[in-house]
Amino acid sequence: MNIDPARIHSLTDRPAGKLPGNTSGNKNYVIYWMQQSQRALWNHALEFAVCRANFHGCPLMAVFCLTNTFPEANLRHYTFMAEGLCETGRELEKRGIRFVLRAGNPGQIVPDLAEQAKEIICDRGYTRVQRQWQQHVAEGARCPVFCVESDVVVPAETASQKAEYAARTIRPKILAHLDRFVRPVAEIPLENPATDLEMRGLAFSDPQKMLSCIQVDGSVSPVTRFFKGGTREAIGRFDDFLDNRIARYIQNSNQPQTDDISRMSPYLHFGQISPVYLAWKVQNRKNLDPEIKTAFIEELVVRRELAVNFVWFTKNYDAFSCLPDWAKKTLADHAKDPRKYRYSIEALDAAATHDIYWNAAMDEMKSTGFMHNYMRMYWGKKILEWSKSPETAFKNAIVLNNKYFLDGRDPNSFAGVAWIFGLHDRAWKARDIFGKVRYMNAAGLERKCDIKAYVDKIEQIKTQQA
Ligand SMILES: Cc1cc2nc3c(=O)[nH]c(=O)nc-3n(C[C@H](O)[C@H](O)[C@H](O)COP(=O)(O)OP(=O)(O)OC[C@H]3O[C@@H](n4cnc5c(N)ncnc54)[C@H](O)[C@@H]3O)c2cc1C
Repeated sequence: MNIDPARIHSLTDRPAGKLPGNTSGNKNYVIYWMQQSQRALWNHALEFAVCRANFHGCPLMAVFCLTNTFPEANLRHYTFMAEGLCETGRELEKRGIRFVLRAGNPGQIVPDLAEQAKEIICDRGYTRVQRQWQQHVAEGARCPVFCVESDVVVPAETASQKAEYAARTIRPKILAHLDRFVRPVAEIPLENPATDLEMRGLAFSDPQKMLSCIQVDGSVSPVTRFFKGGTREAIGRFDDFLDNRIARYIQNSNQPQTDDISRMSPYLHFGQISPVYLAWKVQNRKNLDPEIKTAFIEELVVRRELAVNFVWFTKNYDAFSCLPDWAKKTLADHAKDPRKYRYSIEALDAAATHDIYWNAAMDEMKSTGFMHNYMRMYWGKKILEWSKSPETAFKNAIVLNNKYFLDGRDPNSFAGVAWIFGLHDRAWKARDIFGKVRYMNAAGLERKCDIKAYVDKIEQIKTQQA
């Protein structure tokens, strides 16, 4: 087994193989409870579960719980996720793994299904609701439960034991482990296919049918024209990025009118692609400028895993109070500064501000479920500038971010919004409203990029949609 032990955590103190009150061998499968890493490829948790099933000489059942109560999730998110799950279910069954899709809460469903299980293996998510589910499963199950980190390159606690101040403090800690963790994840043959394992579950032949079994908030429409869910789609898009666009990744990193970015964030958010796979592909890409490799790894691993570190070690990661003290103080000092423009969340949501650049960004996010990083920064900074208080701005930015972005509700969402308000940044020269928090303005966009071409691009998207 080539899975680094640092990825594996026991969630219970029950020894594997010796089950409380039952060692007679009538427990007859291992469960992989899939929740974060929604893929059949390059999935450490899945391969660990295969190893455990082989060790016990029994079949493997993969379980996914489809809940309609996930905070802030709507039809846009569910459609993308369902497309991925249909593909993943088929791929698992091809390997002889029984895929069981159930509607409901994992804290109840997984322990129930595990009545006859030798062990439960789960993957790791970092947000509050994911951690609560893990705790409920570990408390409710009578067998040992192991959690395997498969959605980061460097496991969170290997990188650091505390909330880091900034990219500069976590960077050396992450880079020191890169060679150890950027390794292919071998597919391990399952010795006992689950041919006789009958288990009731929802159909996963079609995403629409799958979603018809649960009631989902339909207020935000799917963006299938721009993003189709699934591992195959993610791999195809990433190959295209490597073949045609990564060469301009550095030069166009603040050029939102271009498209020289990977657009992997929705696939990473739903665990449909492995960050280890992406890092490995880039590192092993022949004839790619080493500076570009470093720039991409900086975003994919250092910045992304700084966000994981933030969420993992900061209980109130989604509240204004999570900000560093200097940022809270300077924003409080300027809370009463007059605002030339003030917009409610309704006006922001309607993209009805005086600023055509900002409106274009809001339109992009509503129409496509995505936005270029440079415009995300501008978008958030203006919400801070135009809201009645920094606390209201923080709340509204999180609501809009998570409502429309396919990659929303992610550690990156919370770290990205908090960055607008000073997280992981330093103090700058003080000015109105922002205090010492970094400022951005429209003149900067006009100077640094072809912002008019960006507005035209979004106009075209809107016209095509109408
Ligand atoms: C206000 C604000 C809100 C944001 N909200 C989200 C969000 O909801 N979900 C989300 O995934 N990202 C968010 N980000 C971070 C970043 O903008 C996106 O991850 C990135 O734009 C996704 O595009 P890409 O996949 O083409 O990135 P690429 O440039 O191709 O980078 C590859 C991967 O690296 C990671 N990455 C890239 N830039 C950053 C960054 N600045 N910080 C952390 N990780 C990064 C992402 O996982 C990304 O998919 C936000 C940033 C800001 C400033």
